[in-house]
Amino acid sequence: MTTTLLAGGSLLDADGRRDGWLLLDGDRIAAVGTDAPPTADVVLDVSGRTLTPGFIDLHGHGGGGAAFDNGADEIRAALAVHRQHGTTRSVISLVANPLETIVASLRAVAELAAADPTIVGSHLEGPFLAVARRGAHAQEYLVEPDPELIATLLDAAAGSLVQVTIAPELPGALAAIEQLVDAGVIVAVGHTEAGEHVTRAAFDAGARLLTHVFNAMPGIHHRDPGPIPSAFDDDRVALELVADGVHVHPSVVQMVFRAAPGRVALVTDAMAAAGGADGFYRLGSLNVTVQNGVAMLNGTSTIAGSTLTQDAALRTAVEVAGVDEDAAVRALTATPACVLGRDDEWGMLAAGFAADVVVLGSGWQVERVWAAGVEVGPSVASAGAA
Ligand SMILES: [Zn+2]
Repeated sequence: MTTTLLAGGSLLDADGRRDGWLLLDGDRIAAVGTDAPPTADVVLDVSGRTLTPGFIDLHGHGGGGAAFDNGADEIRAALAVHRQHGTTRSVISLVANPLETIVASLRAVAELAAADPTIVGSHLEGPFLAVARRGAHAQEYLVEPDPELIATLLDAAAGSLVQVTIAPELPGALAAIEQLVDAGVIVAVGHTEAGEHVTRAAFDAGARLLTHVFNAMPGIHHRDPGPIPSAFDDDRVALELVADGVHVHPSVVQMVFRAAPGRVALVTDAMAAAGGADGFYRLGSLNVTVQNGVAMLNGTSTIAGSTLTQDAALRTAVEVAGVDEDAAVRALTATPACVLGRDDEWGMLAAGFAADVVVLGSGWQVERVWAAGVEVGPSVASAGAA
């Protein structure tokens, strides 16, 4: 295996910032230190740069004009765009669709995930959602959770279904949460009208995540708190947050970090226009117009995913919302790794962890990215494109 030494930079992860070096060996971090660096086959000077663990996206739908719902080629194309922006591990989110479409998507992701360690698995964001909070999921494909249907979906995914979003007020939802948790799936509460008590019951049944806090759910009312304070309150639960400056106001981004320290996961919820141009797109079966980087369902004021990349989420969190840099980086790395139960191998710059590294220059601009020990961008992409 070729060893690569990244020396002279500043290391930043959930443990904070320190000057140091990093030695990559194959797909692992072999050693990290602050003293004199060891020798290596390749030595890279990263002085003046910040090194973070690779970003982990628990929730995305596409990028670069390609959508995760459209099969293996588009999944690969979209992920290549997000790799340029520091995302090294991706959960593939699928929107509500006809059952045969969802089954085909689950099978495609299962195949990809078996071959590519940077693809974590799939996330069924639909179809078990509240009609009134469906956002950019087609109403005709929303259904109530049902044990046989869930068994069919688990079977199609062949062990690669990592996450399901459920509105816990639906009939059968609490039993569905238990069924999914028993199968090793992370259940997220989301696209929901649930009040405080139903949300707590969902967490007690094993749900451990809140899908994009504040979006597609009731906000906080002082006499009717809704689902959000229950998630703030429960140390077992992490909260996805879309920090694009549009989905949630920067002041509220700051508030979420204060209310749930160490439990925020910065996700993209990116649709096909992320890393692409404004214009007309499809999200599942729905038409979406993107203007000034904001995606809206045609003819509505409903936000239809984001055009966010995780490096931009980092910039929004730190530079606009004023979140501490180590908390923001933790929300892109160690916290999502913990949600996925992979915090022993992903999300930290430490010996034995995966060789997932982002090199950031001034203004938190991504300069180089390694995913599972392979350099994937952005300098690699431009060299390849030339
Ligand atoms: Zn989504």
